[in-house]
Amino acid sequence: MDCVFCRIVAQEIPATIRHETADLVAFDDLHPRAPFHILLIPKRHIPSVRELMDTDAKLMGDLIGAARTIAQAQGIAPGGYRLVINCGQDGGQEVAHLHLHLLGGKRLGAMA
Ligand code: AMP
Repeated sequence: MDCVFCRIVAQEIPATIRHETADLVAFDDLHPRAPFHILLIPKRHIPSVRELMDTDAKLMGDLIGAARTIAQAQGIAPGGYRLVINCGQDGGQEVAHLHLHLLGGKRLGAMA
């Protein structure tokens, strides 16, 4: 298994887990780009948004729902936050396991 996020799911490498269900896990980004930066991933290995199937609609809804729940619990929801999914080389995706970034805790400003 050479996918770093699959290895986090399998508890083979450490991560600060914030939330977990049967289908997804949320953990702190190793190199946070904001005071609050967590990644939400499906436990199943899906390389990117490109490989999603119609049957994954609930999974993606659950990922966003979990991000909303975490943001609410962490107190950053009223001020707002950013959800980002990078896809592929041109999209700046570095880890080939679908993930949703949740960034917040400061005024992020316009996207570059
Ligand atoms: P992306 O550029 O959208 O693929 O984002 C990948 C993210 O994964 C980056 O923000 C990295 O800091 C983060 N990352 C890489 N390895 C780890 C790890 N072992 N634990 C937590 N976050 C990681």
